[in-house]
Amino acid sequence: MTSHTGGCQCGAVRFRVEGDLGKASICHCRMCQKAFGNFFAPLVSVPDGALVWTKREPARFRSSNHVQRGFCPSCGTPLTYEAPDGVGLAIGALDDPAAAVPTIQFGVEAKLACFDRLHELPERTTEDDAEAQAFLRSLVSCQHADAPDADEAGPA
Ligand SMILES: [Zn+2]
Ligand SMILES: [Zn+2]
Repeated sequence: MTSHTGGCQCGAVRFRVEGDLGKASICHCRMCQKAFGNFFAPLVSVPDGALVWTKREPARFRSSNHVQRGFCPSCGTPLTYEAPDGVGLAIGALDDPAAAVPTIQFGVEAKLACFDRLHELPERTTEDDAEAQAFLRSLVSCQHADAPDADEAGPA
């Protein structure tokens, strides 16, 4: 069976989705902007019962009477949108974020004007940034690796 893994930046909260991911979207609404500290929230739905927390569970903030937002209590990474009709996972938290390709945009009444022009901005790779070279050479990442942990790999 297919499975997908992911977690927060520090690795304290890890999850596994048993089976296929559901529908992927981005939401521009003001609640999602705030919850993600971002222009929009990229979310992929997970089938009922398919989501397993393999280390600790996220902390949750009740953003409305209907919805809770899950996040890592240690590093703050946004992780879930939890509504009565199901759970959405933050696509960027997947170990393979390319596995969830958005097919619709929600909340476009709050879409920021700059969003439609982002693809016109000049582009640089991290290595192209000359001023950051010394910084990058001495950088030691504390981010959890994009791979299932040995203790969460699940049945082979
Ligand atoms: Zn964390
Ligand atoms: Zn939203």
